[in-house]
Amino acid sequence: MFETLQDRLGAILNGLTGRGSLSEADVSAALREVRRALLEADVALEVVRSFTDAVREKAVGAEILKSIKPGQMVVKIVHDELVAMLGSEGVSIDLNAAAPVVIMMVGLQGSGKTTTSGKIANRLKTRDKKKVLMASLDTRRPAAQEQLRQLGVQTGVDTLPIIAGQSPTDIAARAVQAAKLGGHDVVILDTAGRTHIDEPLMIEMAEIKRKSNPHEILLVADALTGQDAVNLARNFDDRVGITGLVLTRMDGDGRGGAALSMRAVTGKPIKLIGVGEKMGELEEFHPRRVADRILG
Ligand code: GDP
Repeated sequence: MFETLQDRLGAILNGLTGRGSLSEADVSAALREVRRALLEADVALEVVRSFTDAVREKAVGAEILKSIKPGQMVVKIVHDELVAMLGSEGVSIDLNAAAPVVIMMVGLQGSGKTTTSGKIANRLKTRDKKKVLMASLDTRRPAAQEQLRQLGVQTGVDTLPIIAGQSPTDIAARAVQAAKLGGHDVVILDTAGRTHIDEPLMIEMAEIKRKSNPHEILLVADALTGQDAVNLARNFDDRVGITGLVLTRMDGDGRGGAALSMRAVTGKPIKLIGVGEKMGELEEFHPRRVADRILG
């Protein structure tokens, strides 16, 4: 049977009821279970370490109350710390800049970048009544350009017509220009991905950023990314400088440990989550829900 963290910690700690405060040894035993739960949820190892250190500091010496079982008390400390590390609720896309506001979408191929570009455009259009222009900068994959065009048709959002032979930076500059002329409030740049992080990709991202002066740079990442999440987020943040994260496939079976890993290493807010393939399946990030899920 699946044992929750509460059960596991209860088995270790509940015998301590009425015994004063939690000792270093009690907490260490509990933290072994916490560590196991986080690794099962795919939280990256280095983040698990810093997280358990933070919990240790709060838990050692904590008074054992009569009103709550020690196991539950530690679960609460863990949960509160997870919520704190996952960051605030409701930090949405910042459009507070002169129009056209440029949103640059970055991430690996297959992370859900194009789909999320369409979802964000759809949301800005229907909910915020913004006039949006989307542009595909993936000059190496015509299928990706066509995919974005189709999402534009489906959502009724403008897409920048393709001009063969243009470089990604040329397209970015042309998109901003077209948005100025077209009276668009927002430009979404769907950049090219790769199957893994490489130097040319990072150089291309930095150049696009320089040319288009984005107000938001959103890293789109699959919530099912395991230990790689840290590397991915750190690289994009160090090299390009992201302003936020979007986690896709939160509708999947994964426990979403990547959310904690990426937030912890970048300190950047998780702005939105993808919960399906359809254009409406984009939601606000709720740290409590993700904390519950990570703890299982
Ligand atoms: P890109 O290569 O990063 O542009 O990735 P795509 O946008 O083409 O997405 C890759 C696949 O993931 C597509 O089949 C999408 O429909 C799917 N996808 C994207 N976001 C989500 C999501 O939040 N949930 C699910 N279940 N599938 C998604």
